[in-house]
Amino acid sequence: MRILPCKLEPYAISVFTEMSAMAQQHGAINLSQGFPDFEGPDFIVDAAVAAMRAGLNQYAPSHGIPELRKAVAAKMERLYGLSPDPQEEVTVFSGATEAIFSTIQGLCQAGDEVLAFEPFYDSCAPAAVMAGAEFKAVSLGSGFALDMEALERSVTDRTRLLLLNTPMNPTGKVFHEAELSAIAQFCISRGIIVITDEVYEHLVFNGARHVPMATLPGMWEQTVTISSTAKTFSMTGWKIGYAVAPPALGRAIRMAHHYVTFCTPAALQHAMALAIDVSDDYYPVLRAQYQARRDLLRSILEAAGLDVVTPEGCYFMLADFRPLGFDDDREFCRFLTTEIGVAAIPASAFFQTPGAGSHLARFAFCKDLETLKKAGERLSRLNRIGPPKTELD
Ligand code: GLN
Repeated sequence: MRILPCKLEPYAISVFTEMSAMAQQHGAINLSQGFPDFEGPDFIVDAAVAAMRAGLNQYAPSHGIPELRKAVAAKMERLYGLSPDPQEEVTVFSGATEAIFSTIQGLCQAGDEVLAFEPFYDSCAPAAVMAGAEFKAVSLGSGFALDMEALERSVTDRTRLLLLNTPMNPTGKVFHEAELSAIAQFCISRGIIVITDEVYEHLVFNGARHVPMATLPGMWEQTVTISSTAKTFSMTGWKIGYAVAPPALGRAIRMAHHYVTFCTPAALQHAMALAIDVSDDYYPVLRAQYQARRDLLRSILEAAGLDVVTPEGCYFMLADFRPLGFDDDREFCRFLTTEIGVAAIPASAFFQTPGAGSHLARFAFCKDLETLKKAGERLSRLNRIGPPKTELD
């Protein structure tokens, strides 16, 4: 038997798994992997329990239960003025990660190229590789501004898809209308399909507005809009995500989904349909809570001596630790976790360009204010103790 090297070897260990394990081993406060340490709304859990008790325990329809597809379509109409057909244009997935994966499998041929703005979410590159496609990172410019020249340089006649994430993990960037419009014109003129990951759509701060790419003129036809209930309802473990796309694209991604997971737990879909139907008043409350968490974490990190990149959206914050005398993100995050007792993600994990992001750490603020305050007490030691001395010092 000949065992070939696995093509996924370069992606062997997810940085989130690695840092959460390190946090646990050292009893560190876990600001690395992005999951809330508080419960989502009770009524959603009650609805799931009731659905299980009522016998919704067998396979769901592959595309998702009609109630959830209708709830998503109605929400897209109320909030964004889009009117997808719940029958043909909304599909439920096991989380946004599976939606991105199945979309890439469904729409790519071997040899196609998939572009993504760098920094990018870790599962995008292996998803492209599994489709036999080539993954190419397109650097954002300074301050993570859109660099159209970099985008133009990256494109070839094999470019099939562009992945966009707004609000963006890990930068906290919210793509504004002018940037979206430049990307839209670029993609329309070249026939490139946009996959847009909008899972942080409700987490935007200081009055910033989330604009779905599919609402831009001409973009509905060539956009797959992906979102999830995980972040909005603080239930990342349920993995209920969805994609909205015109039938020409939706058909291909439904076929992929059919053979990847087939379907998503019915009772949980049922509970999330209810949640989406009644939540328009909840979104501003969620935003205000997250704004308070963001502002607290920013003041904590600044007081500890880091240079913070203030996020306009999502629940992550990048911070430059060089003022503290460190210059390598993996070394800094290891020190922070083992010696200070707070875990963060080394940001280079989100970059493909060698050396990029290695001066940054990513901190999650989807945590109770009390957790963040406790982390603040620990982080206040950073200013006093500085980096560990090497033998050469
Ligand atoms: N989305 C989460 C993050 O960015 C990680 C989820 C995972 O571990 N796959 O931290």
